[in-house]
Amino acid sequence: MKAAVLTEINKPLQILDVEQEGPKTGEVRVKVKATGVCMSDWHMMIGDWPARLPLVPGHEAAGIVDEVGPGVTSVKAGDHVIFSFVPHCGHCAYCSRGRSVLCNGYKASPPGGMYDGTTRLKFNGEALFQMARIGTFAEYVVCSHENVVPIRKDMPWAQAALVGCSVATGVGAVTRHAKVRAGSDVVVIGCGGVGLNIVQGAKLAGARRIIAVDLLDNKLAYAKTFGATDTINAKTEKVAKRVKDLTAGMGADYAFDAIGSQITAAQIVDCVAPGGHAVLVGIPAMTVTAAISPAMMVFQEKSLTGSMYGSVQPNLDFPILCDLYMEKKINLDALISRTYKLAEINEGFAQLAAGSHARGVVMFD
Ligand SMILES: [Zn+2]
Ligand SMILES: [Zn+2]
Repeated sequence: MKAAVLTEINKPLQILDVEQEGPKTGEVRVKVKATGVCMSDWHMMIGDWPARLPLVPGHEAAGIVDEVGPGVTSVKAGDHVIFSFVPHCGHCAYCSRGRSVLCNGYKASPPGGMYDGTTRLKFNGEALFQMARIGTFAEYVVCSHENVVPIRKDMPWAQAALVGCSVATGVGAVTRHAKVRAGSDVVVIGCGGVGLNIVQGAKLAGARRIIAVDLLDNKLAYAKTFGATDTINAKTEKVAKRVKDLTAGMGADYAFDAIGSQITAAQIVDCVAPGGHAVLVGIPAMTVTAAISPAMMVFQEKSLTGSMYGSVQPNLDFPILCDLYMEKKINLDALISRTYKLAEINEGFAQLAAGSHARGVVMFD
């Protein structure tokens, strides 16, 4: 089967014919139908985050269960599923508290392989690793049943794929993590795949003002179509000052950073009013740090928190997000700017890096 493989940092992906073993106990094989081109793949490809090479990237995907290994009862062949890039053991301290994104039931095995420590992919006899233990830039994926969530069968594939990363991360950051109250004023910095979903999550939550911030006017135009009431181009305007002007001198109730840079992490704290909540969502390189004023955090009782994967519980939230799409309460169609074939995947990353798109999706037949 074919897969797009990262053999070296900062090199294009190579489409290779790789060998795949079938699912073992607790595992499934999924025929991938659609997989999104996401900044997190890019971070691994350029060495921002540690990766075991050679690696099949890809983590935002949906497909059809092709075969299940012994002991799997959560899905069966023919089920439509969305991949979850975090597992949920269901019984660790975090899963028990409903925080399955932090599940620590599987820490024992090294990343990139199965939970038993072995790998299912090989190229020329050499072990090949899978990003987030899924690696969806491939025609088929063998992974733990914990990493797939069954969904309704009328959900279209490209839209289903996006639920598995950018939609869950963005909408979840608003509804599950920050629990934005109706009537609030919200700032969103960064209007890529995740940021646009924060914008529409804020709309879903009934926010009053949704102020979108980016450096590119085309992305601010996208944000308007997803519900932004105001936009700020951070290249030409002072962000925190403009936010104050737009909120009667107060500042926002919530501010979300979908980028995760030294500048934007500090900006979200400056954008919220005293008592406001700033949320870090976008993940930068591991080396990035940011400066905040502890004194002002205390004097003004501001909160700064991080939300991973929208703080969702994938098995609960993915089907809900699909229903919200099918009932036209969230817009996933306008997120998909372009589709690619697997062979065109490097073009997808070039366009992602250029910022010309909302989201690109690789489709399989
Ligand atoms: Zn992603
Ligand atoms: Zn757990």
